[in-house]
Amino acid sequence: MSEARDTSEVRDVDVVVVGAGIAGLYMLHRLRGLGFTSQVIEAGEGVGGTWFWNRYPGARVDIESTDYSYSFSPELEQEWEWSERFPTQPELLRYINHVADRFQLRDGIQFNTRVESAHFDEATGRWDVRTDTGDRFSAQFCVMATGCLSDAKVPQFPGVDSFEGATYHTGRWPHEGVDFTGLRVGIIGTGSSGIQSIPLIAAQAEHLYVFQRTPNFSIPARNGQLDPDYLAEVKANYRERRAIAKLSVGGTNAVRPEKKVQEDPDEVRNAIYEERWQAGGLGAITGAYNNTIVDREANEIAAEFVRGKIRETVKDPAVAELLCPRDYPIGTKRICLDTNYYETFNRENVTLVDVKRAPIVEVLPHGLRTDDKGYELDAIVYATGFDAMTGALTGIDIQGRGGEKLAEKWADGPRTYLGIASVGFPNLFMITGPGSPSVLSNMITSIEQHVDWVADYVTYLRDHNLTHFEPLPEAEDKWVEHVNEVAHRTLYPTAASWYMGANIPGKTRVFMPYVGGVGTYRLLCDDIAAKDYEGFVLSGAS
Ligand code: FAD
Ligand code: NAP
Repeated sequence: MSEARDTSEVRDVDVVVVGAGIAGLYMLHRLRGLGFTSQVIEAGEGVGGTWFWNRYPGARVDIESTDYSYSFSPELEQEWEWSERFPTQPELLRYINHVADRFQLRDGIQFNTRVESAHFDEATGRWDVRTDTGDRFSAQFCVMATGCLSDAKVPQFPGVDSFEGATYHTGRWPHEGVDFTGLRVGIIGTGSSGIQSIPLIAAQAEHLYVFQRTPNFSIPARNGQLDPDYLAEVKANYRERRAIAKLSVGGTNAVRPEKKVQEDPDEVRNAIYEERWQAGGLGAITGAYNNTIVDREANEIAAEFVRGKIRETVKDPAVAELLCPRDYPIGTKRICLDTNYYETFNRENVTLVDVKRAPIVEVLPHGLRTDDKGYELDAIVYATGFDAMTGALTGIDIQGRGGEKLAEKWADGPRTYLGIASVGFPNLFMITGPGSPSVLSNMITSIEQHVDWVADYVTYLRDHNLTHFEPLPEAEDKWVEHVNEVAHRTLYPTAASWYMGANIPGKTRVFMPYVGGVGTYRLLCDDIAAKDYEGFVLSGAS
């Protein structure tokens, strides 16, 4: 991190953008194209966000690369060659760096700089943005492209800082990589990050202890090199593919199932599940029928198929049973995609430890202790996730009209209009904020939709000689109610997931993303824009 400068100089820009991940980069590109002055501020020393920070072994995307890529530039689509169905983190980071270079974005970004506060100054009507480097910016608009999964969390076990071996968090992995050869390693957490890294760490370590609190449903990725003919076909049809993704439920080209689980007899359904299990991919099981996520009975049939696969794969029946998720419906936590995850528990050097039954009680200088046993460790990997959706926003001292703090306004759960803006915080945008499809979708599709909508909005304001926007309280109330109501038509809120804020002790449990689907949401946002930004109060010189 750079040393703090005490500078009284305040730099004026039209827009400050916080974050240089996929969202911040595209926002910068759009703003420049429209003639707005801007400054992107990024805490890391490079672009890429998620793909800059999460360098743990096995880190890969879980959406096919031909969908998980920018759609805004047909030239970019044609020139970039994805090598795999689900590329690794280094390839994704290369792609994002290529985008930064190709569109000459680097000189618009200040790296190694964390935004500490953003205060709306009612006298000037501008945002006063301050950083840990002592820099100050005055901006008409502030765009928070801070990421939904960027605030990495290590549980505060007693003695957590006393450990004398090496500790890592998957979301803050060292750039030079880690060699676990000959080490006794403990990994805490079996979400997507744990499940991707466990097979690779197990292959290296002398012994790996997997501390599991809640087992997750994981589907084989069946990753592989992309066939050049398939890639050529995708490239020839990119416009149609993007159009489908934009109006789909999840922001991809996945085909929508037409039948309910119960409409097929057991043998037909099992054959369909089997074929899809062999093909792999995120929606292999939950995407086979259309009522898996809304009908408990249907869901249990799908869940039991996966449990059957776990029992088939894991040789020790007691370990297999422990790996079988039972206390939430399949799909209500993000499905994991793996390569040899369940197989890893057949290795001699891997031990599964049930920390639901006997929780971790303390970390010691040479290991950790659960309620019933001590474990000697040389390294601890925290695959313990993030303060999702709100953590990066409430971690900044954001103050709106009358000095209202965003963190206080959201103490009982986030409140937004469309997941883009919040009452009391004029001219502040959030990209993929709580209340938008965001983390339930292919996030690049959702990011592009938000960035384009924001770009259109600031252009509209400029063209109409307006300076300010803010959601109306009744529009926000209605949206929050709608997000909640739609979520409760599904099984999602029945799981103690990070979508609910359940992974952070003390965080209010509210279902945060919008389950209405990417396409429906896009049309709604477009309609609001077409009605001169219905639900917002606009003000300014005109
Ligand atoms: P981020 O990539 O999180 O970027 C936000 C940036 O803001 C970061 O670089 C951060 O340093 C910076 N920042 C935050 N706060 C501040 C501050 N106060 N000051 C300065 N800078 C700040 N999504 C999918 O759709 N498919 C996937 O397969 C998938 N895989 C994932 C794998 C992992 C390991 C993780 C963690 C997430 C994954 N996601 C996936 C979600 C992923 O976060 C999004 O796909 C996407 O990369 C988000 O881009 P972003 O620009 O919105 O946010
Ligand atoms: P996560 O899903 O939140 O998983 C965190 C894990 O740590 C959980 O198993 C959790 O157990 C455990 N944990 C947390 N605190 C604990 C404690 N005090 N004691 C014991 N265990 C504890 O985090 P993640 O794996 O980093 O994934 C987050 C999201 O990022 C994913 O859902 C996905 O959206 C995205 N991601 C995607 C990919 C991909 O495949 N492309 C890869 C990584 C991440 P509980 O479940 O009991 O809380």
